[in-house]
Amino acid sequence: MTISIDLNAEGARDALRRATPTEKPSLIGLTRAELGEALVGAGIVPERQAKMRAQQLWHWMYVRGVSDFAHMFNISKDLRAELDKHFTVARPEIVEEQISSDGTRKWLFRFPPRGAGRPVEIETVYIPEEGRGTLCISSQVGCTLTCSFCHTGTQKLVRNLTTEEILAQLLTARDRLGDFPDRDTPDGAIVPAEGRKVSNIVMMGMGEPLYNFEAVKKALLIASDGDGLSLSKRRITLSTSGVVPEIARTGEEIGVMLAISLHATNDDLRDLLVPINKKFPLKDLIAACKAYPGLSNAKRITFEYVMLKDVNDSLDDAKALVKLLKGIPAKINLIPFNPWPGTNYQCSDWETIEKFADYINNAGYASPIRTPRGRDILAACGQLKSESERMRKVDRLALEAMMIAGHGEA
Ligand code: SAH
Ligand code: SF4
Repeated sequence: MTISIDLNAEGARDALRRATPTEKPSLIGLTRAELGEALVGAGIVPERQAKMRAQQLWHWMYVRGVSDFAHMFNISKDLRAELDKHFTVARPEIVEEQISSDGTRKWLFRFPPRGAGRPVEIETVYIPEEGRGTLCISSQVGCTLTCSFCHTGTQKLVRNLTTEEILAQLLTARDRLGDFPDRDTPDGAIVPAEGRKVSNIVMMGMGEPLYNFEAVKKALLIASDGDGLSLSKRRITLSTSGVVPEIARTGEEIGVMLAISLHATNDDLRDLLVPINKKFPLKDLIAACKAYPGLSNAKRITFEYVMLKDVNDSLDDAKALVKLLKGIPAKINLIPFNPWPGTNYQCSDWETIEKFADYINNAGYASPIRTPRGRDILAACGQLKSESERMRKVDRLALEAMMIAGHGEA
């Protein structure tokens, strides 16, 4: 069963929309120094107070999760009014929130055009599991790349997301899940029994994060700031299709965990599945992985491998995979292919996936098979695609039929 909240129903839209989007510049996504400069630049804070005020705002925005200056109680009423006149800390518009029968949640956000011609929409997915809650964040609207098995890849790049928009996905998810002090978790929500509701972040939503490097870097540094959102860098994973020139910088300048969308063990096949391979072939990709800063047995690279029936799922492929990764501290993540309307690929049979996984396990790799989550709301890997090309009902029904015929739904 899927619960979909229809935001066209009267009242519902207001309930989810935390604040009306405004044209005022947002303070979210600025570094502390930029925050101080913005306050001084607007003439509402004297230079000598800039640092202190920036710190105060930082705490309200990122520790307390406040989205309205009016709630910043240790700031004078006059200054709050001035802040509100010049800036915003409001959340973006949520167009739709869907809740899967397995507790997975998917939000469709709408952001201003910022040069894209019209407002843009992106998706963010929350996956609750025993002991952790993972938020899958988007970095771009669409993608410039065209991996042949990926739904997002069929949507052209509309634009990069800003630092604010990347962080807004985390802040809003935490609002909606009651993951800030003073906020309640919605009745019946499936969340980890203890600890933070959003304990992990994966940059595995729409887009190629390393083609939006600066904004992603800034957002992840704010998300991992110890005096703010405070997510450990060990719990943040950035997934790339293989933008080799940016891999070293990811380790040096961001310092998060790395995942590589590998999917094939030879250039001929990878050229077809992940076409960026033509530009940065396997030899270069593997060399960049071996040189990843901070790599150790305690800090391994995750290699993602989508299981495509009769394409890359033979035992020979498993052998080639083990050989290719020799010498790299690695985890292998087998992803059952998630179908979408119009695709020619099929997911490997369950038996094939298990055989493949066994071989890899025996070779000494932890190789969890990623259980598809939230398929009933098209929230699984590679199924994300935004409103601009939202699925027609007939396609949705076709997809459901395909999933039932294919490998069943748990
Ligand atoms: N652009 C980045 C991150 C987003 S995709 C990247 O490609 O790494 C997140 C993961 O989902 C990638 O490993 C991607 O290859 C995989 N994926 C894409 N489409 C999929 C599908 N239909 N089924 C299963 N996995 C898919
Ligand atoms: Fe883009 Fe990643 Fe999809 Fe490839 S798999 S098209 S890089 S989002």
